[in-house]
Amino acid sequence: MRLFWEDRPFWKGNFHCHSTRSDGRHSPEEVAKIYQAQGHDFLVITDHRKLSEQAHFMDAMLMLPGMEMDFMLPAEALHIVGFGMSEEFMSSKGWLIGPQQCIDAMRRYGGRAIVAHPAWSLNTPDTLNGLRNATAAEIYNTFSGTPWNGARADSSGILDVAAAHGKLYNYVASDDSHTYTGEAGYSYTMVQAEELSQQSLIDAMDAGRFYCTQGPRFEQITVEDGVVSVQCSPVEMVVFYSNLVWSQGRCLSGKDIRNASYSIAGGGAETFVRVQLVDHEGKSAWSNPIAL
Ligand SMILES: [Zn+2]
Repeated sequence: MRLFWEDRPFWKGNFHCHSTRSDGRHSPEEVAKIYQAQGHDFLVITDHRKLSEQAHFMDAMLMLPGMEMDFMLPAEALHIVGFGMSEEFMSSKGWLIGPQQCIDAMRRYGGRAIVAHPAWSLNTPDTLNGLRNATAAEIYNTFSGTPWNGARADSSGILDVAAAHGKLYNYVASDDSHTYTGEAGYSYTMVQAEELSQQSLIDAMDAGRFYCTQGPRFEQITVEDGVVSVQCSPVEMVVFYSNLVWSQGRCLSGKDIRNASYSIAGGGAETFVRVQLVDHEGKSAWSNPIAL
């Protein structure tokens, strides 16, 4: 099984950022220009409780409609980022009722839902495992890291706990830009879609044909005869994570690694594997978890 097509482009985009329509420092037009300068192919502006404009191009960059909804649960927050919803979504009000109703409403109005920054939100595995039909969760959220917001940018630990308990989320990495003081463009998602359109991106997200990164690139991931193999841009570390607390050959380090492989434990003990690449600057890329 190959996770990616051999001959199609990946589109670079950010699913989560803010403008002056909520608590961001720049106008939507200025935000779009900042991301254009970062070489993004698509961008979703997700102001709090406000849907951005319907899909349109700004020069070559596709702007998708989006918003971020926030809930407070006992001892945790739960933020849901939606993209691709029609204007009717806002008057539907279903998104105000609760997290699951919000995810369902986002889908009902043509969009998809992403669970934002689980580590920053202090989400529990129970909370993450209780949600249905989210298209992804943010494994990395730039603005939840220092110097902006403490050091809870990386949600891989909590998502691994959820995955070990049977809930596999696909992953995006998002900036959640507010201040535009270095966070914009730091983390992004690469989506392998037929073309740069809202529907094509949604189809690719539904199919899991994407990965997220701060720089390193996945070229191909294959699963064959109990072996997970990776081809990538030159990196210094490749780590294969799974539900097993110990596993031989999980971590490969060296100079200019472009290929790595990992043997899945026999007997069905291993329920998922995911791959993280780390380059010479310490920047990461994350594959989606592969259910075994
Ligand atoms: Zn946000």
